[in-house]
Amino acid sequence: MPKTIIVSNRLPIKISKAEDEYILSPSEGGLATGLGSIYKQGNNVWIGWPGIEITEQQDKDYVSHQLKELSLIPVFLDQEEINQYYEGFSNEVLWPVFHYYASTYANYKQSNWDYYQAVNQKFRDIILSIAEPGDIIWIHDYQLLLLPALVRNELPDVSIGFFLHIPFPSHEMFRLIPWRSELLEGMLGADLIGFHTFDDVRHFLGATSRILPVNTSSNIITMDERSIVVESFPMGIDEQKYATLPLQDDVKEQIEQIKNSFINTKLILSIDRLDYSKGILQRLQAFELMLELCPECIEKITLYMIVVPSRDTVPQYAHLRDEIDKRVGNINSIYRTMDWTPIHYYYRSFPIETLSALYHTADVCLVTPMRDGMNLVSKEYIASRTNNDGVLILSEMAGSSKELIDAIIVNPNNTGEVCRAILQAISMPLEEQQRRMTAMRQLVSKFNISHWVKIFFDRLKEVKLMQRSMQARHVSFATEQSIINRYIKTKKRIIFLDYDGTLVNFKSNIEQASPDEELYNIINKLSEDPANQVVLISGRKHENLNQWFSHTDIYLIAEHGSWFKKPGTNWHKISGLSDQWKHDIYPILETYVDRTPGSFIEEKTYSLVWHYRKSQNGLGELRASELMNNLKYLASDKGLQLLAGDKVLEVKNMDINKGKAALTLTEGKDYDFIIAFGDDYTDEDIFKALPETAITIKVGSNLSAAKFYLRNPIEVRKLLTSFTQHTTVEVG
Ligand code: UDP
Repeated sequence: MPKTIIVSNRLPIKISKAEDEYILSPSEGGLATGLGSIYKQGNNVWIGWPGIEITEQQDKDYVSHQLKELSLIPVFLDQEEINQYYEGFSNEVLWPVFHYYASTYANYKQSNWDYYQAVNQKFRDIILSIAEPGDIIWIHDYQLLLLPALVRNELPDVSIGFFLHIPFPSHEMFRLIPWRSELLEGMLGADLIGFHTFDDVRHFLGATSRILPVNTSSNIITMDERSIVVESFPMGIDEQKYATLPLQDDVKEQIEQIKNSFINTKLILSIDRLDYSKGILQRLQAFELMLELCPECIEKITLYMIVVPSRDTVPQYAHLRDEIDKRVGNINSIYRTMDWTPIHYYYRSFPIETLSALYHTADVCLVTPMRDGMNLVSKEYIASRTNNDGVLILSEMAGSSKELIDAIIVNPNNTGEVCRAILQAISMPLEEQQRRMTAMRQLVSKFNISHWVKIFFDRLKEVKLMQRSMQARHVSFATEQSIINRYIKTKKRIIFLDYDGTLVNFKSNIEQASPDEELYNIINKLSEDPANQVVLISGRKHENLNQWFSHTDIYLIAEHGSWFKKPGTNWHKISGLSDQWKHDIYPILETYVDRTPGSFIEEKTYSLVWHYRKSQNGLGELRASELMNNLKYLASDKGLQLLAGDKVLEVKNMDINKGKAALTLTEGKDYDFIIAFGDDYTDEDIFKALPETAITIKVGSNLSAAKFYLRNPIEVRKLLTSFTQHTTVEVG
């Protein structure tokens, strides 16, 4: 029975040492709750660092044993590993770069990177000690970016999901990291890569396609014939917990206390971990501006600010803490009155019951991070508003702002805007509060943590099935033998061969992909067999095919079926088609060539092709979709079709396609063996048009209507060569 293994930097547990005893207390975080239903079942486990340095072997054995009872497996790290892998690389390279603070805080130290690799390997070794083929492994977060590939290399047959809990930055930021390729390759060991938002997905796809030589097509990356799916899965919270906490007696009591302490003043709540990405100083500035501009707000609005201690032994964090202290002290000393303190500031953490009471009571929750992967505080506030009132002010830089669109959304750098948002929030009519809050509560309730876990796992299973069905269609040894057997037994065969990408590899310069000696040999041998009709069916111009193949004995079809040449006869083109439309379309394409360096137009008899293979990555795609939109109506008016291919956009007569062309050669003929090889979108027409008995083979790994797959031109040539070794001997 396959098992599920969850892997994260930290185990969902707190371990403390009292005298000589280790005390374990389970963590109550949302992730731990969401995954609780998974890792506590059957043989499933959670692997991670227990959060404390344990040096003695007997203590390690003791803790491991205790953890095992809870389905947890520890990865013990020594102080140096914690300093370099965790503090050094994870928190001083990845955290700042991924939060767009590269220039201020990133520190690219080689030894940190060495430790990061070594600790990721350490995690791998623990996984390998328990994982078996068929298992599902879900790896979490930025501390373990290398782990998916490290596991994949050793265990190709496991399903690996990866989720990043922090933002993925734009390529412009990401590429600053000296070890950017290694990090991406590490992540691509996964089958499914999840992010909180669609922007993160776009950034990841952009960085991958620019930095690594991989194929990406919409949200699927193909590497070593494995399709990797990249998607957004906005993480939810344990909504039920936050919705029911205010009903608990101890929470009710605290709610009353808070209400009594802040009777005549609106309460604005702000909760963050101490971090530069949270925008705490800027928030204070906006609050101060409000007090300055709005004297009526004095004594009427109170900011209740909790900052949870984090990493404050690191100088930058200690500095931030001191700055917050100073700023709060300043504001309070300027605006304080006998009965009122503007900011109630706590540098500590609180039990969840107190947080719940605060969430439930605060009139406004002010969440203004400069950058945040998701931000759970904003969702916890919503879930706690069981009376459907209250206002959330939310930074557009928080992942949750993509879902909580009924919040007052602000740019956290715009102090004036944040200040106005506070004023708008405190004077918002109850009906409007309720309308916004109801919508947001429904969303937070539906997209809760269990939903998140479920859709991630469901998708991971689907991705694996998709990969397996593609693998199953890959021509195996047995399939190859059965194709060859059919070949041997048949007497009238037709073999359709696409050229670029099928018989030869793609070249960025189309002139360079000329046939080599080996290819001529294969083609000649195949066509020497009187039972074979070899057909080369290509999108290339007939002049081009003529130059390369007119001396051979094969049937040539050029320009996707505009031109035909039977062996021993002259070229003839398909009749009754007009090319007058080119006068209108050509000038439009020219404007795109003028605006897109590296692109050019190729003119064929019945088609025009706009090539952008040599254009700047991304720009070509952008222009192609612009061009597609631009030509949409004109094309259908003129009976043309638009085909977006591999770095090309082709405009051609509707009536021309490789499928129709192939049928003109097969219809009415009693071929007993029909086989077609092709790699791109135009070949799909052949695969679909040929009769059910035909053998259709897709080259590459993109989704296809073909029955079978081969990986590359080398494999195609190998199969064709096997055919040539079985020449049909005509009897009589
Ligand atoms: N939190 C806590 N103790 C506190 C204050 C906050 O455990 O005293 C929790 C809060 O409930 C939330 C988490 O800390 O679940 C903060 O998550 P968020 O995504 O907002 O920010 P992160 O710290 O992960 O960047």
